[in-house]
This record gives sequence, structure tokens and C-alpha cells, in this order.
Amino acid sequence: MITVCKKDNCAGCKICSDICPIGAITIDDDIKAYNAVIDEARCINCNLCHKLCPQNNIAKLTEPIAWYQGWSLNPKIRANSSSGGLAAEISKSFIEHGGEVLTCRFKDGTFGFEFFDNVNKLSVAAGSKYVKSDPAGIYGPLLKKLRDDKQVLMIALPCQIAAAKAYAKNHENLYTVDLICHGTPSPKVLETFLAEKGVDLAKVKELFFRDKGQFGLRSGAVPLDKFGQDAYMYAFLQAILYTENCYHCPYAGFNRVSDVTVGDSWGSELSREEQAKGISLILCQTEKGKNLLEMAEIERKDVDIEKAVAANQQLQRPSEKPKKRDFLMDRLGKGESFEKILFQIAPLRTAQNIARSVAKSILPGRSRGGGTGSVYRWSPKRP
Ligand SMILES: Cc1cc2nc3c(=O)[nH]c(=O)nc-3n(C[C@H](O)[C@H](O)[C@H](O)COP(=O)(O)OP(=O)(O)OC[C@H]3O[C@@H](n4cnc5c(N)ncnc54)[C@H](O)[C@@H]3O)c2cc1C
Repeated sequence: MITVCKKDNCAGCKICSDICPIGAITIDDDIKAYNAVIDEARCINCNLCHKLCPQNNIAKLTEPIAWYQGWSLNPKIRANSSSGGLAAEISKSFIEHGGEVLTCRFKDGTFGFEFFDNVNKLSVAAGSKYVKSDPAGIYGPLLKKLRDDKQVLMIALPCQIAAAKAYAKNHENLYTVDLICHGTPSPKVLETFLAEKGVDLAKVKELFFRDKGQFGLRSGAVPLDKFGQDAYMYAFLQAILYTENCYHCPYAGFNRVSDVTVGDSWGSELSREEQAKGISLILCQTEKGKNLLEMAEIERKDVDIEKAVAANQQLQRPSEKPKKRDFLMDRLGKGESFEKILFQIAPLRTAQNIARSVAKSILPGRSRGGGTGSVYRWSPKRP
């Protein structure tokens, strides 16, 4: 098997399959790793895939010139967002100034990307999707818009921003916001987990991964696991679910690939009330980034950057691969039940959920409802 980048190191940005002039590249997803596989018999050796791949050629990373914590001044936008609503607020002002926004949206069971030119439609994109999204097909249309003198703001994971910048050759009309990223699982893992719970991902209308500090899957009003944190989100936060490349991600660090980086302001000293409403951490790398932040209607406060970095491992290095990750992936690959595997690797979590469900049946209304567990922050291991 000939692959575009080192075996098992593909980030799934799909720039190679998009750029290949003869369609000789397929993306193989075996849930443990993605691989961009080249059909040797058809390859014309143009080398475009190798050159543009953001895993082969690491994009320029820039040290932040300013950092803040903050939130959208619009309470509805802030409430509708996972963190402080920075992504939505920056998107809104960008469109109001005549630009378009390219970002991820959950629709028909997939996590693809869409262009937005109407602020009233932006709300469908809000919310963190804790899964690998799929940028297939975006690069050509993006470059066309940029060349047609349209300013486009892309909001995405750092590896996807790196790919778009490579494709667009850092076009001046391209503005970028990347998310601090813990790592991403293949959507097949999510699909398998939901199927086990009797939920067909393809038929789900809305899917939420988090309500502010409460992490847990919810489709509609009721959390998927009523008695504690669901197994998918538990495993996500423990970093056991990611594809192989995420554990070596070159874009997880203090120097960033984009104009502005947004994440959660873990470790904030601001009031509990503000924290409950969501506070974003904001890193600004460029003059373009400064313009984005100046245009947006946001509250900006000083942040102790050392404290913020200490509380957010992804600003120092990628997630470490836990030993139990390969065990879980092997079992999942063999078709074993997600809950059963999790019981083997995290028996305490399963026992707590069972205890809560028993308590709920004995004392209805007394046990913790809507349970999404107690993991509030990303990084259980602090430096
Ligand atoms: C997989 C993943 C891992 C993350 N890990 C961390 C972390 O370790 N530490 C931290 O501080 N923050 C992390 N974040 C970022 C955090 O969850 C919030 O998204 C961020 O703080 C922005 O919040 P917001 O309120 O401004 O916007 P949100 O309401 O979260 O909206 C975010 C924007 O990003 C886009 N988006 C959401 N999910 C994806 C996706 N999977 N792929 C591409 N685009 C997407 C949305 O379409 C929207 O435009 C992660 C986000 C994701 C998706």
C-alpha cells in the first residue's frame, strides 16, 4: 500500500484526494487510523498530493502576539455555543462585513463543511462536534471564491486550516480561526456507539456533544446517558478514541497555524457565573486576526496565559496515547460492544452509572439527572 504521508499518520483533511487530477487517491478509515492510499496503477506522479499534505509539509506556525479570554456580547449566541461563542460572533461580523464563512455543520448524519453568507443561518453550525469532520470537496470552491475576490473565513481544526492554507497558497482573502484540539475519533466510532444505543446517526436531526461544562451526547432534550457520562464522551475526554495521527499532531502547541485560535478558558479566575455561561480562550497570531477580533462584538478580558496554557495540554503538546487505547480499538474493530469494552477498561465509571440508575429508580428526582459526568476539563494529567 502506497500512502500520501507516513502510514497511519493521515489527518483526514482530504486535500490529496481533492487535488489529485485523476482521482487516484482514496481515504481508508479503519477507525484506528486514516490512510490516503494511492492507486499506483493510475498515478501519474505529479506529486501534488505529497507536496500539499499538511502532515508531510508542516504549515508555518506563529507565536501568538496577544491573548485574551472573552465571550460574545449577544447572550443568545453565547448560550447557543459550546464555549464563549467566539466562533459564532467572529463569523457574524465577518458576514456583516461582506465575507463568507466556511465551517463544519452536522447534517444528514455527516460532519461536512458548508459556506455561510447569511447570519441568520449561522446558528446551525454552532457547537463543538467531538469527532473528525470531513472537508472533502471544499478546497476547489474555496480557492475559486478567494480568486473571485471574496473574503472567506474558515473555522476548523488546525490540520484542516493547514490544508486549506496550502491549497490556497496563503491567499490574502483567506482568514482563519482554528480550534484548540484535543484529538478526534473517526465518525465510524460515533456511529457504532450510537447504533448500540438504538440511535441511527443518519436519521438524527440534531446532535449535541456538550452543554457548556457538561460533556455528554444529547440528541433532542434528553442526554443519551441519563445516569452519568456516556461511554463515547468519557472515552473522548480520556483520549482513548483518537485516530493515530492525533497523538503526534504537529499542530498541537503554543505556536498556531491560524490568524486566531479559540478554545476554552480553563483555569479562568473570572466568576463562577461567567464560567457557567462559557468563557473562550483567544489567541491572536496576526494582524488579520486583530482585525477579526476588533470587528466582532465580544467582551475581551486579560488572561494569565501561563495559567491558561497549564490548564490546556493541547497548547503544549498533543494528547498522549493511553495504553488502553489500542485494546479498545482492537475490540471495537472485532465488533465487540462499546459499553462492554469500557466496562473492562473503566469499571469504576460503569459502576457509578449503575449506582446512579439504581438510586434514580429508588429515589426518583433525587439522583443527578441529565448526567454527563464530572470531567469538566480536557486534561486529567496536568504538567
Ligand atoms: C474535536 C475538538 C476538540 C477540542 N479540544 C479542545 C481542547 O482540548 N481544549 C480547548 O480549550 N478547546 C477544545 N476544543 C474547542 C472547544 O470545544 C470550542 O469549540 C471552542 O472553545 C470554541 O467555542 P465557541 O463557543 O467559540 O464555538 P462553538 O460553538 O464550539 O463552535 C465552534 C466552531 O467550530 C466548528 N466546529 C465544531 N466542531 C468541529 C469539527 N469537529 N471540525 C471542524 N470544525 C468544527 C463549528 O462549526 C463552529 O463554527 C475542541 C473542539 C473540537 C471540535
